[in-house]
Amino acid sequence: MSEPLRLVVIGGGPAGHAAATIAATNGAEVTLVEDSIVGGAAHLWDCIPSKAMAASSMRIAAIRNASRLGISDAGHVDLDMDRLAGHLDGITGSLASGFTSMLASQGVEIVKGRGRFTSPNTAVATTDDGEVPLEFDAAVVSTGSRPWEPDWAVVDGSRVITTRHAYHLHEQPEHIVVVGSGVTGVEMVHIFSSLGSKVTLLVSRHHVLPHRDAEVATVLEEDFLERGVVLLKGSRANGASIENGSVVVTTEDGRRVEASHALLAVGSVPNTEGLGLDAAGVDVDRGYIGVDELQRTSVGHIYAAGDVTGQLPLSSVASAQGRLIANHVMGRAAQPIEYAKVTQAIFTEPEIASVGLEEVDAAAAGRKVRITKVPFAANPRALIQGNPRGFVKVISDPATREVLGGTVVGHHASELIAAISLAVAGDLQVDLLMHTMMAHPSLVESISEAAE
Ligand SMILES: Cc1cc2nc3c(=O)[nH]c(=O)nc-3n(C[C@H](O)[C@H](O)[C@H](O)COP(=O)(O)OP(=O)(O)OC[C@H]3O[C@@H](n4cnc5c(N)ncnc54)[C@H](O)[C@@H]3O)c2cc1C
Repeated sequence: MSEPLRLVVIGGGPAGHAAATIAATNGAEVTLVEDSIVGGAAHLWDCIPSKAMAASSMRIAAIRNASRLGISDAGHVDLDMDRLAGHLDGITGSLASGFTSMLASQGVEIVKGRGRFTSPNTAVATTDDGEVPLEFDAAVVSTGSRPWEPDWAVVDGSRVITTRHAYHLHEQPEHIVVVGSGVTGVEMVHIFSSLGSKVTLLVSRHHVLPHRDAEVATVLEEDFLERGVVLLKGSRANGASIENGSVVVTTEDGRRVEASHALLAVGSVPNTEGLGLDAAGVDVDRGYIGVDELQRTSVGHIYAAGDVTGQLPLSSVASAQGRLIANHVMGRAAQPIEYAKVTQAIFTEPEIASVGLEEVDAAAAGRKVRITKVPFAANPRALIQGNPRGFVKVISDPATREVLGGTVVGHHASELIAAISLAVAGDLQVDLLMHTMMAHPSLVESISEAAE
């Protein structure tokens, strides 16, 4: 019997966790080196706490707005930031312990420490008890990324913050300036405005979410304005600090905004420093690790997955890349990821979800497409729930009738998009969406309708 393959995984976020679990269940001897929690930044700082905080903030907003549904005295709502933080920590803790015991039961050796390569076939984990040497036949670098802290900002972690500090504020911000109107920025605006904070959003271009359909951005901006969010467009920040007890954010066009807090959501940087990538011979480009379609780095038996590669920075993509690596390394069928078919969601209210081709991409490529759109204002369930904002858009090929993509903007869009995602993944025809009998009254009926 041949010796099992020795796989070392550095970084236990969605990418590393998926690689470790699939490789171990298929017979590899896996060591996972993680310096924080299994589940990674995705569970500790990003996907999970942000969505949990959004869920709490939306509940508060729903109570405050209950009069729209005929409820006249919903009572006084009090927000306890420390209890909220405890709730978020509870979710993270229970996920981390579940993931850790699942990996242990699969035979994965988890080493708590900082991993670093010492050669193309060896690494070392620095732990509280000293250095643990590791030898491997294959390795995965899945060390993720962290928020970028520009040198013009004085981040103190309590008043001038990034998303890493947003979940443990002891007091609710009275007025928070969110710098950056990409996905993370708009999600933070949604959270803090729902909690009841005054919010100012610095938008460096003409509209929020600059890379998405303008129509999508318009719906979101309408909602923000209705909540009283101040949108400062065409404003690029060049300073954020505390002056005389106030947070001051300045912009290149000479604006100066005073607030109680500022949150920077201006991008991320890969965690590749101190990893010994040069000792392993792995090439790095501006901090990111380049990979081929099977996630191999410049050193064939060393793979990279997740945010550290600079590819689509989503937890779902990181997991898929980790699974792909494990399958490839174990000699199983490994299909390269079709990035054009990845479903993406933005967890604001209304939520924004899309898959496949977007109208903006079709126009840019000069591709002839059939676009059908239905507003949620015409959907009975949306009216019943008091969430008529948004629409469903289905994009198909006029000749073959194949569903090429779709966008849902509305309540629960991240769940509703599944019907279109399935059609895109399966190259199904729009007729199937049209003829599928959905429940009535339901939000998903708008997808069948939009397919007509
Ligand atoms: C606020 C926010 C919200 C987000 N929400 C979503 C969402 O809703 N859905 C979604 O799909 N994506 C979301 N993302 C993106 C998602 O979080 C990332 O794409 C995902 O975490 C990437 O996973 P990863 O495995 O590459 O790395 P990570 O989750 O970053 O994990 C990497 C791990 O490696 C560890 N590590 C680093 N260096 C070393 C070392 N030398 N030795 C040992 N361990 C090391 C780190 O401590 C960390 O635990 C969000 C991002 C942000 C910022």
